[in-house]
Amino acid sequence: MNYFPIFVAIKERPVLISGGGAMAIAKLRLLMKTSASLVVFAVEAEPQIKSWAYEGRLVLFHRPVQAGDLKEAALLYITDEAADHHPRIAALARASNIPVNIVDNLEGSTFITPAIVDRDPVTIAIGTEGAAPVLARAIKRDFEDRLPVHLGLLAKAGKVFRPLAKRVLSGRKHREFWAEYYADTGPETIEAKGTDGLPAALDELMSRHVSAETAPGHVDLVGAGPGDPDLLTLKARKALDRADVVIHDQLVAPQILELARREAVIVEAGKKGFGAATPQEKINALMIDHARDGAHVVRLKSGDPTVFGRLDEEIEALEAAGIHWRIIPGITAASAAIAQIGQSFTRRGRNSSIRFFTGHDVHGFAEQDWRTLARAKEVAAIYMGKKSARFLQGRLLMNNANPNTPITLVENASRAQTRIIATTLAGLPGAVDGLKGPAIMLLGLAPRHGALNADHNAPLELAL
Ligand code: SAH
Repeated sequence: MNYFPIFVAIKERPVLISGGGAMAIAKLRLLMKTSASLVVFAVEAEPQIKSWAYEGRLVLFHRPVQAGDLKEAALLYITDEAADHHPRIAALARASNIPVNIVDNLEGSTFITPAIVDRDPVTIAIGTEGAAPVLARAIKRDFEDRLPVHLGLLAKAGKVFRPLAKRVLSGRKHREFWAEYYADTGPETIEAKGTDGLPAALDELMSRHVSAETAPGHVDLVGAGPGDPDLLTLKARKALDRADVVIHDQLVAPQILELARREAVIVEAGKKGFGAATPQEKINALMIDHARDGAHVVRLKSGDPTVFGRLDEEIEALEAAGIHWRIIPGITAASAAIAQIGQSFTRRGRNSSIRFFTGHDVHGFAEQDWRTLARAKEVAAIYMGKKSARFLQGRLLMNNANPNTPITLVENASRAQTRIIATTLAGLPGAVDGLKGPAIMLLGLAPRHGALNADHNAPLELAL
């Protein structure tokens, strides 16, 4: 991030615009939405600017900016069409430590203006560091469509109530009061009674929340999916949005943790293959302690929490402690992997069952029904199989599996660094050698031609 977004206090402070042409008009239209005092310096100004000056919406000086003008200024925009003036004016601003923006000149500017979605006092600023203004505008359009027009009115009415709400409600109750106001009470009131109905509705909502019992803490056991944040369920997103504490596995992608409520306490409880681990008892204790404090705990597990996630142990611990819990399912890694190779787990006439199994379990390498798995047309997804690839190959060959049985490895399924490696049972140990990230092995399936890396710009590696 080479630019850090902030909101500058400009109420009644001078914002200076050098230049009186079309560029100045464009900036002024934006700035006139604010409560800044606008001052334009232009030897020649467009009639529009003159008429704004006449209406008292800005002050117009028919001369260039001078050093003395910059005192107290909050910002300076340089919009002059004649670029040869720019360095002199920019130097004046720099000498006085005034943030300066030169239109269409990123290098010469000390700040840039984002694309803005205006639901005053709710403001969304979108920036791309000058890399993709078209993208910024597309994102702006998207937000414009999604945010209700009356959001600003809701926020304004809410602002008046903030000091009182802070006094009488605290912690989770306080948050729940505002969540209900913005999600339900506020929009419903505006629709039924207009903004005039808001103060009474806020009053009523507040008395309800003051007298409500504090809900006890609880734990959501949430599937974070394979990595791509778009593959989270809406329920998981909502849970993250409301969480007080998030306890996550190492495999959970950072982009997903970004979605947690900003104030949430985030705890990493590493449990990764053979690597360093947080003991299960410690994870259980963490969940229980936080829930007993009344927190909404999200126990975030990669993929689906019910697949190789030691979920039962956590549920049993919660039950024993008398803590309320629920499971929010997620997309398991095998589903993401098979989607990526364009195949189906089942196919009429080929296989009527599939197996998800793990390469190793508590006892070491995991034994399976190798005889069945070795038969032609069997399909299986193997989790945590990297270390046991040679063992797996040995067991299958011992049971007369065809060495040419296709196996596809999908590393980092649904993530940016994903790779698909098409191999066979004979080539398996060699193929797993190069794996760095988490991988699923799809036994009995080759990538469908043309589906390879369709969604991801990853190279296709053939390890036959
Ligand atoms: N509950 C998880 C599985 C946890 S076990 C789920 O449903 O997906 C951890 C194993 O899952 C890893 O060793 C790897 O085999 C697999 N895995 C998890 N995320 C993956 C991903 N994005 N791509 C490929 N494999 C993944």
